[in-house]
Amino acid sequence: MRTVYVNGDYLPETEARISIFDRGFLMADGVYEVTSVLDGKLIDFAGHLARLERSLNELDMKKPAAFDDLLEIHRELVRLNGIADGLVYLQVTRGSDGDRDFVFPDAATTEPTLVLFTQSKPGLADNPAAKKGIRIISIDDIRWGRRDIKTVQLLYPSMGKMMAKKAGCDDAWMVEDGHVTEGTSNNAYIVKGGRIITRHLSNDILHGITRAAVLRFAREAQMEVEERAFTVEEAKSADEAFVTSASAFVMPVVEIDGVPLGTGAPGRVATRLREIYLDESRKAAV
Ligand code: PMP
Repeated sequence: MRTVYVNGDYLPETEARISIFDRGFLMADGVYEVTSVLDGKLIDFAGHLARLERSLNELDMKKPAAFDDLLEIHRELVRLNGIADGLVYLQVTRGSDGDRDFVFPDAATTEPTLVLFTQSKPGLADNPAAKKGIRIISIDDIRWGRRDIKTVQLLYPSMGKMMAKKAGCDDAWMVEDGHVTEGTSNNAYIVKGGRIITRHLSNDILHGITRAAVLRFAREAQMEVEERAFTVEEAKSADEAFVTSASAFVMPVVEIDGVPLGTGAPGRVATRLREIYLDESRKAAV
């Protein structure tokens, strides 16, 4: 049985308790982060914590603990649960003042709820899907306008994954005003004539921590990067495509809406970036 963390305590998962009035539960009034673990170490922890702070600031939510304390809790959960490869999930909600009300509770008297748990994923970096590539469909992006805040409102992304599954595919890219925003749980990229194209940062997409690292590594390796919106048509005629996220790293995309890309196998750029990302991230892991 897993040991999880709730508001200061390490507990067996079956003994963890949250109020039914918690605003995370009633209103999706919460934010989260997912940090990968490889060889028992955290990948890009500082990046995830910086984004958590930004998400909390944007929603006027209190920080539940200091950076060093959160690092310690992550490490302790990895240790207690014997995680070699996997994830640490962290969620902060605005907490509960013991009733339901649209108005935010007084932050002076209502403490945020802090929950963390681990997920063991043996062989996370050797995911066989990375050798085959994934197949995606495009769907309308009907999410709210602040996708840069990493909130727990994941119903539509979850529905998007179900639409992909129903279509016999692996995932979905969301499209707004004719342009791809991002994947249901990842950032989206195409490669054309050696150029890597991915949507520019704005409130329309999550500012992926993996995205930032991968673009830095690409530029360091003298690859050309263009940050701009692209259409599904452009993606279908690309040489290759891929997605990035903390848990999938760099994952090649080999088909969009039934159209195979390039040779129909993972592309050279995606494959190389995956190798560089994994090598560099392992070196910098804490
Ligand atoms: N976009 C969305 C909508 C996501 O849910 C995620 C993963 N949480 C990402 C992008 C990728 O972000 P990261 O690289 O920080 O995991």
